[in-house]
Amino acid sequence: METIRCLILGSGPAGYTAAIYAGRAGLSPVVYEGLQPGGQLTTTTEIENFPGYPEGIDGNQMMDELRQQAERFGAEIRSAIAVKADLSQAPYVITFDDGASVQCHTLIIATGATAKYLGLADEEKYRGQGVSACATCDGFFYRKKVVAVVGGGDTACEEATYLAGLATKVYLIVRKPYLRASKAMQERVFSNPKIEVLFETNTVGLFGADGVEGAHLVYKKGTPEEKLHDIAIDGFFLAIGHKPNSDMFKPWVKTDETGYILTEGQTPRTGVPGVFAAGDVADPLYRQAITAAGSGCKAAIEAERYLSENGL
Ligand code: NDP
Repeated sequence: METIRCLILGSGPAGYTAAIYAGRAGLSPVVYEGLQPGGQLTTTTEIENFPGYPEGIDGNQMMDELRQQAERFGAEIRSAIAVKADLSQAPYVITFDDGASVQCHTLIIATGATAKYLGLADEEKYRGQGVSACATCDGFFYRKKVVAVVGGGDTACEEATYLAGLATKVYLIVRKPYLRASKAMQERVFSNPKIEVLFETNTVGLFGADGVEGAHLVYKKGTPEEKLHDIAIDGFFLAIGHKPNSDMFKPWVKTDETGYILTEGQTPRTGVPGVFAAGDVADPLYRQAITAAGSGCKAAIEAERYLSENGL
């Protein structure tokens, strides 16, 4: 079986930054792109908050350039999806969807998190054209417009409040008759005159000729009081949670109840020697490209130290 010194799973900002550092440190890193080559940024339009791009940059272009930068320093990029991990003993064995397996001395898990969607066909239809799962990324495009946020947790409240600073009006669409968010976060929502909370409301579709122009809603679905109504909006933001892509590592690494990998203190160490976690798979709090890139850097530095300390 092939043995890789530094195996990186995932090709978002965390994976590629780890590859750049590992490549420059002479670790001959191999990156497996995974489920979504380039990661979540490839689903947004323009990125305006990554330092160094005063005019902003297209998400796909940025990820393409990160990949080229990693390749420049000798990273090998492969396109397969990891489906099984055996971290019971070093070297660790990873198996891919094409049936191939490799073993590695160090592993950087940068498999990201996947934003949850409602599962409506219209979300796919309008993705990048009014549908977003990241207010911090895309909110700026909705200045002086009307938007809706779906969800009743802290993220939804935080995003609704953030968007209210930009948009003229924000609907918060909540399926229950109450918010799940912390009291402080609820206060901020209820005291903001720009936010209208629509309780006991579900979204059943979106409409618009050229991008999102509105949403079809249903109030008290499945009860005698059920009522259909439409709202006019320019943007539709999902904030119903993220799912970290950590399932296959769970037998060996600690995770929180949602599945985010728990790392040791400020480091990307997982507790399994030589196995590190970087980016959104280990970050329930910030989930930004720049924080993912920073943790990818840390993981590669850790991998380098581990390999040299163990003479590998
Ligand atoms: P949560 O799981 O806390 O909340 C998800 C929300 O989405 C819930 O209101 C849930 O409704 C709703 N939801 C889920 N599925 C659907 C669906 N299919 N249709 C409609 N609504 C749906 O996720 P968050 O991302 O908000 O938060 C994750 C964690 O991060 C939490 O622990 C949170 O406290 C924390 N966090 C903390 C922040 C802070 O302190 N500043 C900021 C952001 C997050 P229901 O209530 O009915 O289940």
